[in-house]
Amino acid sequence: DPVIGEVDPEIAQALRDELRRQEDGLELIASENYASPAVMRAQGSVLTNKYAEGLPGRRYYGGCEFVDVAERLAIERAKALFGADHVNVQPHSGAQANAAVYFAALKPGDTVLGMSLAHGGHLTHGSPINLSGAWFRFVHYGVSPQTERLDYDEIGTLARQHRPKMIVAGASAYPRVIDFAALRAIADEVGAVLMVDMAHIAGLVAAGLHPSPIPVSQYVTTTTHKTLRGPRGGLIFCQAEYAKAVDRAVFPGMQGGPLMHVIAAKAVALKEALAPEFKAYQRQVVANAAALADALMERGYRLVSGGTDNHLMLVDVQRSRGLTGKDAERLLEEAGLTVNKNAIPFDPQPPAVASGIRIGTPAITTRGLRQAEMAQIAVWIDEVLSHPGDEAVRRRVRGEVRELCRAFPVYRSGL
Ligand code: PLP
Repeated sequence: DPVIGEVDPEIAQALRDELRRQEDGLELIASENYASPAVMRAQGSVLTNKYAEGLPGRRYYGGCEFVDVAERLAIERAKALFGADHVNVQPHSGAQANAAVYFAALKPGDTVLGMSLAHGGHLTHGSPINLSGAWFRFVHYGVSPQTERLDYDEIGTLARQHRPKMIVAGASAYPRVIDFAALRAIADEVGAVLMVDMAHIAGLVAAGLHPSPIPVSQYVTTTTHKTLRGPRGGLIFCQAEYAKAVDRAVFPGMQGGPLMHVIAAKAVALKEALAPEFKAYQRQVVANAAALADALMERGYRLVSGGTDNHLMLVDVQRSRGLTGKDAERLLEEAGLTVNKNAIPFDPQPPAVASGIRIGTPAITTRGLRQAEMAQIAVWIDEVLSHPGDEAVRRRVRGEVRELCRAFPVYRSGL
């Protein structure tokens, strides 16, 4: 970028290097995606200059007439896309969206039932090293050791035993459909509210490929940068009666001035998500994940829960190839395949080592890969993980990956 280059050549170089890294390798991290040039332009716009504390039409600053247009569009589109009563589009991130809901709905020390991080939940669902776990009394549910799927009977039992104020659902590493209606029934039975963090699956929900949590949850949070393919950020949906409390919890509760450039970029991404091509994209994300999962299982890899229903899978590399997740992540990275190590349920390894890797298809589907390329990626993963001592294999695969990437450029028509 010549404009940045003139002011700051070091940052310009880092941006060039990162663009090359994103173009030249296969991004298999399940929480990542490639935002469109339109989304990025909105995010890098003059709206970054504007203070706009408050909500459209009710700001604490003058000069908000045009950022109001942007925020109103983001709100209307988010409500239309998900069929929600109310949305707040200001959370800076998924973590802040979650914290704002806790601030709106709970008092410090309240009991909350959430999914265990070790079984696929998120840090912000009550990990002791996160604010959520430090300020609330989280009790955790997990998956069944037999099926590695959520056990709704167990969740019901825990709910009756602990009487939480809130049940938190949603995950960062769960490859199966989540039955939000069943969780709502449990919440109702014990007088709890249901909060669903649909960050990972929001794009699938928008496209009707995963049951929506919106009609059955008091609160729904999401990030905008994963399957939804927008700028980094968060959204909070809620039923009408909680709207005021949610808006107040975001500002002045959690945040100061909203990031109006990011809100404009959210509006652009939501417009993209309302277009018919977005549904086709999400269908391909799911079809690609199924194809990759099948191809890996054919080569003898054990997938947590025996497969996937969504955009991601967890591969038990320890039991499949005698490798730790940490080593598998490093070996694949050398070959141009970016994944993250991930704990599997009941993992004997500590989280920093882990027995699994998490693989997702949102980003590679955005660059146009389909089932045929999934079969090829499975072959590459297998070659690398079956020959951990053979650097030549990784070098050869690295070259082949680069060639495939050149045939499927991410930013085909420039940035
Ligand atoms: N919720 C879930 C389920 C996630 O997977 C993540 C991100 O990994 C978050 C929340 C946090 O989002 P952010 O990184 O934007 O704070």
